[in-house]
Amino acid sequence: MAWFKKTRKPITAQEKVSRVPEGLWIKCPACARAIYNKDHVESLQVCQKCGHHFRMSAAERLRMLLDGPWTEHDAGLRSTDPLQFTDTKPYRSRLDASIAATGLNDAIIVATGALDGVPVVLASMEYAFIGGSMGVVVGEKITRAAELALATNVPLIVVSCSGGARMMEGALSLMQMAKISAALGRLDRAGLPYISVLTDPTTGGVTASFAMLGDLNIAEPKALIGFAGPRVIEQTIRQKLPAGFQRSEFLLDKGFIDAIVDRRELKATLSRTLRVMIGMPPPKPSAMATAEAQAELSAELSAEPSPESTPTDG
Ligand SMILES: [Zn+2]
Repeated sequence: MAWFKKTRKPITAQEKVSRVPEGLWIKCPACARAIYNKDHVESLQVCQKCGHHFRMSAAERLRMLLDGPWTEHDAGLRSTDPLQFTDTKPYRSRLDASIAATGLNDAIIVATGALDGVPVVLASMEYAFIGGSMGVVVGEKITRAAELALATNVPLIVVSCSGGARMMEGALSLMQMAKISAALGRLDRAGLPYISVLTDPTTGGVTASFAMLGDLNIAEPKALIGFAGPRVIEQTIRQKLPAGFQRSEFLLDKGFIDAIVDRRELKATLSRTLRVMIGMPPPKPSAMATAEAQAELSAELSAEPSPESTPTDG
């Protein structure tokens, strides 16, 4: 065999073997900082350096906002694939894959529990389930959540994270917008608060219905919130859109939402707001805080036995 016919190995990039175990570090997509997984959980999945809010699952949301165990409602509702829809693959198989991947039957969890001592009905959307899209099941569960809030006389919170109405259920998805809005109307007439929390992303039919109907619409920082996508709007109005268009900060500036709240402040903000809305006094200090205050007080009293010394309200 001639020397020039020598077969050569194709050039391949040598893969570096990482010494870091899989899943121990996460890279922030905004500032490229490596974040230790445990710190990531402790900081509620917000980058400590740049404040980037990572997307949370529906269950993580509930864990973050509710005090302890919660009661889930209508967990068994499943889509019946009413249109027998098929695009690149059958809707039925998409549903089965999402159910297997998320452990949920559809893109929302509805729960009752206490938020900092305030009883609430809390609905949280799951983006990992077909883009958090709203089909018949999501629509029905939010409607029932509003009805449950009405029946039990407690406030309703919906945390949105959704690409909009579910294409595979066609017009039936769009009907959910009116159905949920009607249920929220009944809640409003009963004088019960409804707070909408908009997270990245909240778009389409979800923005166009319940996500914007809150007595208070609160968004997370830099969340994408809009109805149609920027390209569609640019093509329709034939104008270039301004920078930061459809982000929380832009929408707050234009009066489209009421507040932007950092995730680390969200529970405290919701608790304070709900207490004002329903006329519930602020939470009592915890048992430990009370014990500490008493220990301090008794130390003060023993140090200054004069009768004039009066303890002040902390
Ligand atoms: Zn970052």
